[in-house]
Amino acid sequence: MPARNPYPTAAAFMPDRLTMSALREAVQHCEGCPLYANATQAVFGEGKLGSDVMLVGETPGDQEDLAGAPFVGPAGKLLDRALDEAGIDRSKTYVTNAVKHFKWRSRGARRIHDKPTWTEQMACRPWVEAEIALVKPRALVLMGATAAQSLLGKSFRVTQNRGTPLDSDLAELVTATIHPSAVLRSDDREAMFAGLVADLRIAR
Ligand code: SF4
Repeated sequence: MPARNPYPTAAAFMPDRLTMSALREAVQHCEGCPLYANATQAVFGEGKLGSDVMLVGETPGDQEDLAGAPFVGPAGKLLDRALDEAGIDRSKTYVTNAVKHFKWRSRGARRIHDKPTWTEQMACRPWVEAEIALVKPRALVLMGATAAQSLLGKSFRVTQNRGTPLDSDLAELVTATIHPSAVLRSDDREAMFAGLVADLRIAR
């Protein structure tokens, strides 16, 4: 018999009143999956309620974990450039991640990003669902497989369905693209970056 999952999911830590400030406070106490134990803090989304565009990435990275803010590291800087080229003002977007605690493994003195498991993604989903419900974006852009699968299902493939409007009730326009960190890892950064910008233009 498979071992019982001892973690209750984020649903057990949601505040009674769904306001952004209550969510921000509550997420810091979340023990809905094992990831809280090795992270510095939970990293919640940033941006204004009513933002037209909401961007969802995978998890905070090393710098985001330390800063407590999403997309402040190298991938965030690249995202800023891509948004700018796509004609989207980042200050008018809401930016968050599907999973709120940094998952990592050691490589020497460095902390290397590790992909959250499906169970961890599903455990964390109540937070991003609450953010969508409060922000009410007109366009929801899911960046990378973790964000897209967390919200659209495990069988979703970014490579096959990126840059196009998707069938979803989560927002007026739901679309998917690659994660900015995929551009940084690529041997052909120029082409990957151009593809990211083209996908983001759909949201504009
Ligand atoms: S990753 Fe999500 S579900 Fe897991 S402990 Fe952190 S906030 Fe809670």
